[in-house]
Amino acid sequence: MSENKKIWLASPHMSDEGYEMQYVQDAFDTNWIAPLGPNVNGFESELAEKVGAKHAAATVSGTAALHLALEAAGVGEGDIVFCQSLTFSATANPIIYQNATPVFIDSDMETWNMNPNALEEAFIKYPQVKAVMIVHLYGLSADMDRIMEICNRYNVPVIEDAAESLGTYYKGQHTGTIGEYGIFSFNGNKIITTSGGGMLVSDNKEKVEKVRFWSTQARDDARHYQHSELGYNYRMSNVAAGIGRGQLKVLDQRVAKKRYIYNFYKNELNHLECINFMPENIWNEPNFWLSAITLDGKVKPLDLMKALEEENIESRPIWKPMHLQPFFEKYDYIGGNVGQYLFENGVCLPSDTKMTDEDLERVCMVIKGLWI
Ligand SMILES: *Cc1c(COP(=O)(O)O)cnc(C)c1O
Repeated sequence: MSENKKIWLASPHMSDEGYEMQYVQDAFDTNWIAPLGPNVNGFESELAEKVGAKHAAATVSGTAALHLALEAAGVGEGDIVFCQSLTFSATANPIIYQNATPVFIDSDMETWNMNPNALEEAFIKYPQVKAVMIVHLYGLSADMDRIMEICNRYNVPVIEDAAESLGTYYKGQHTGTIGEYGIFSFNGNKIITTSGGGMLVSDNKEKVEKVRFWSTQARDDARHYQHSELGYNYRMSNVAAGIGRGQLKVLDQRVAKKRYIYNFYKNELNHLECINFMPENIWNEPNFWLSAITLDGKVKPLDLMKALEEENIESRPIWKPMHLQPFFEKYDYIGGNVGQYLFENGVCLPSDTKMTDEDLERVCMVIKGLWI
């Protein structure tokens, strides 16, 4: 291992101004060290406003928000759910929690997200499908116009997994607010963090209220403990929400720095043979959560990741598609080899917003060294 300072893929980055601590201090001062509380309500309304959603419900994780989105969409035992295959397992796991059946769908090279043609094919095979889960990976947005047109035609709700895309716009509209439900994650490596947390957004007031109800153990409106529905302990704490309110104030700064990092890499590395940067579409304003590349020449992703690791620099492969995962491979899959190609050829470069120009130069030096 080199003596060099560690460079992270993406790590928590609190505001220089200390906004987060002010909200957390307030929680301590008022003894709101609990789920519920003013920071939770504040974080919900501030995030909803930021993304242009009517309502929001804060949860303990993005995964919990996805689980309750499926519940809200009425997905239950034996139902079919279409799910983008190229993603983190957290997108697909809640389908199994609901005893429903995933059908995985390939990505396309233009967006790296769900291929609308494969989606169309899936509808023909499974017209009874109950919900569609699309993902905006690395802050790239899916082809939402086509996806929404198809899903509206079949009258099936769309759940957008926008865990990685807070700060990303599709044709001027924030990702996560285009389908019926959207979810965000505030896990430690996401663009802003609450140490752990999530949020469900929707314009459907009744459903969002229902999500809050389920997330606090589904307690009926009675003096005693009365339950007519299955509940969960999924509500965000007032302390975590305080961190989130502070972080939200610097989201635009974080997006700007992520874009800077991406452009830095692009300027330095784009000329290298057989290196391709993630797709850029005029209708997409990404948050550049991670700068991702693909390699289709002599230098393999593993060589590059190992060379960086030797210099104490963290990088990662692109997600391994769900249809190739031992746990999920028994489920149906529709599409070709795009997800597999991206997994086998992709690398996520360090995209930590605390990186300096020297850090970025260090990363580029190591990478360029592999082409000599
Ligand atoms: C991080 C992530 C999630 C899960 O979020 P958690 O808050 O960690 O539960 C879901 N989907 C995708 C695509 C993610 O990257």
